[in-house]
Amino acid sequence: ERPLSEPETLKLIHELEVHQIELELINEELMQARSAAQEAAEKYTELYDFAPSCYFTLSKGGEIIELNLSGAKMLGKERAHLKTSRLGFFVSNDTKPTFNLFLEKIFNNKTKESCEVTLSQKGNLPMAVHLTGIITENEEHCFVTIVDITAHKQAEHELIKAKEHAEESDHLKSAFLANMSHEIRTPMNGILGFADLLKNPKLTGEKQQNYISIIEKSGVRMLNILNDIISISKVESGQMKISISETNINEQIEYIYTFFKAEVERKGMQLSCNIGLPAKEAVIRTDREKIYSILTNLVKNAIKYSDKGTIEIGYNSAGSSTELTFYVKDTGIGIPPDKTETIFNRFVRSDKADIKAIQGAGLGLSIAKAYVEMLGGKIWVESEEGKGSTFFFTIPFN
Ligand code: ADP
Repeated sequence: ERPLSEPETLKLIHELEVHQIELELINEELMQARSAAQEAAEKYTELYDFAPSCYFTLSKGGEIIELNLSGAKMLGKERAHLKTSRLGFFVSNDTKPTFNLFLEKIFNNKTKESCEVTLSQKGNLPMAVHLTGIITENEEHCFVTIVDITAHKQAEHELIKAKEHAEESDHLKSAFLANMSHEIRTPMNGILGFADLLKNPKLTGEKQQNYISIIEKSGVRMLNILNDIISISKVESGQMKISISETNINEQIEYIYTFFKAEVERKGMQLSCNIGLPAKEAVIRTDREKIYSILTNLVKNAIKYSDKGTIEIGYNSAGSSTELTFYVKDTGIGIPPDKTETIFNRFVRSDKADIKAIQGAGLGLSIAKAYVEMLGGKIWVESEEGKGSTFFFTIPFN
């Protein structure tokens, strides 16, 4: 090879210089691309780790291959400790079959699958979650997204409860209206029917008296129903007022005893009363009318739902210096255990077929309960079916 001439050398140097510039430009581009790639990778990691959804990569056997931070947080463990553990381990026993089927379908059908299961970890509340899964390209693993739907589930649950409640109220109202129509029509028919019979001028005096007394009784029955409806409407619209005055409890009990004695004895039963405090101490500050109304309702029920034995009304201070406990005890048909709470709700009547015939609108106890609560007390019943019931209520005094 011959040595290069000077112009040739200069040309070569020039070409090299150009080439170097080119290389530098390429290098710069590469650096830029690298930093862009790095940025993208960081962004991706950030996106993956801090996404609000939980991402998992699982093996066919359900082992955790990869997961994001949200996923680790959801399972309540550190990410490093979770790799190679099984996701199924965190799924509640009752939803495990659903989870296993979900995995099986992803790998067998190679379709996108979803399911709902419950995650349960020691010491934490169970969490309702929605899973979506899809197989990876190499078909070795699957990607699973998990979303916490506990709040949704709870809202759904509450909606269903509210709906059931509304339906129940609706049902009760219809039953109440039907019952009420019956309750009003029966005495009304009595009044109209016997008034018609009274028109007969040839009636004996005895028959006349008999018919008049039936008309009177029907009128009273109707008035009672109307009063109950007015009371419960007042309670519900917040118009029922309390009027506190000095009240002699013993007088109240004795008054009710005297008032109902004859009626109870006519049914072949006994009425007894049990005064809990000496006359001097039996004066408390409370709403006399309400106490009277509560006791009357309870005694009326005791008479209505008993055919034999004794009805006892009374009260005692049960060692308390702040409240009195009243009771009305009967030896009647009793109340099924599942009804002892609901009978205090308005319109609710025990739906035993054999006592359907007994008149009532299902308002008495709800009025009694509302009054007791207005006075700051509690009302409850202890009962055994076929043996009898004792209704208790407390009234704080002063
Ligand atoms: P009503 O008597 O008009 O049906 P209440 O609200 O007074 O309405 O009572 C609700 C239900 O509670 C009654 O239908 C009855 O089934 C039950 N009940 C109330 N008092 C007694 C009692 N002393 N013994 C047995 N069942 C009772």
